[in-house]
Amino acid sequence: MSKRAEKLRKERRILQARVKGIDADLAELVAEKEKADETIAAKRDRLDDDPTPARRDELKKEIDKLLVVRKEAKARIHELRPRLEKAQRRLKKIARKLRNLASPKFVDLHFDRSAVRGLVRQGTIYGSVGHYTAGPLDDDDSEAFELWRRYDAAHKAQGWSCLGYNVGVTRDGTIVRLRGVEYVGAHTLNYNTGRVGISVHGTTGDTWAGVVQRRALRKLLKKYGLTSKPLIGHWQAPGQSTACPGDFLKGYTSKGKTQ
Ligand SMILES: [Zn+2]
Repeated sequence: MSKRAEKLRKERRILQARVKGIDADLAELVAEKEKADETIAAKRDRLDDDPTPARRDELKKEIDKLLVVRKEAKARIHELRPRLEKAQRRLKKIARKLRNLASPKFVDLHFDRSAVRGLVRQGTIYGSVGHYTAGPLDDDDSEAFELWRRYDAAHKAQGWSCLGYNVGVTRDGTIVRLRGVEYVGAHTLNYNTGRVGISVHGTTGDTWAGVVQRRALRKLLKKYGLTSKPLIGHWQAPGQSTACPGDFLKGYTSKGKTQ
């Protein structure tokens, strides 16, 4: 665990205890206020029942006392609620920060590379090409894997050996081995040899999910020794007539060098 994550977890523990404490205090105060409300109402009813003057004075005094109790409870509730909300907001922020600090996972979807006699091994790697899939975005990793399996079937139906992309990045930040970087991919016309095709689910108008996915992309580039090599969007490769990767282009090119 990194020092930063450790520090955040410690702060989270403190805040969770604080939230628990405030919650308990608030529940008690709300109950106290409600009880005061009820008792005040009951005593006022009794006043209306016209008891003796001595009893009326007594009741009035009791009601005054309860009004003070209620006022104090209300003031305290008013004071505690913003504190609770502040701690809850910070907890949400910490959860997000911790998610972003988590290391991206690597998953191999094991596409049928035994049936890839036609696949050529990559020689020198010159760089990578970013793609979208002109389809839906994934909501979670299992959906992402399912989508790539579908694209694999579609690419096979086209007569290819397996999914044309070499690797992918899910929106949850998982790095996925598809065809694998060691084989020449089938993703960019006349531009596959020595280029790693990176796939992200989505189509025109969709945008990158943000920090988690971008961090996974950076990690992917590092893992495969691509960081210092050019990373371009599909349409930026010579001779392409495609809009791919649409608005994802920024996600691809901003973290790598463009040609
Ligand atoms: Zn493409």
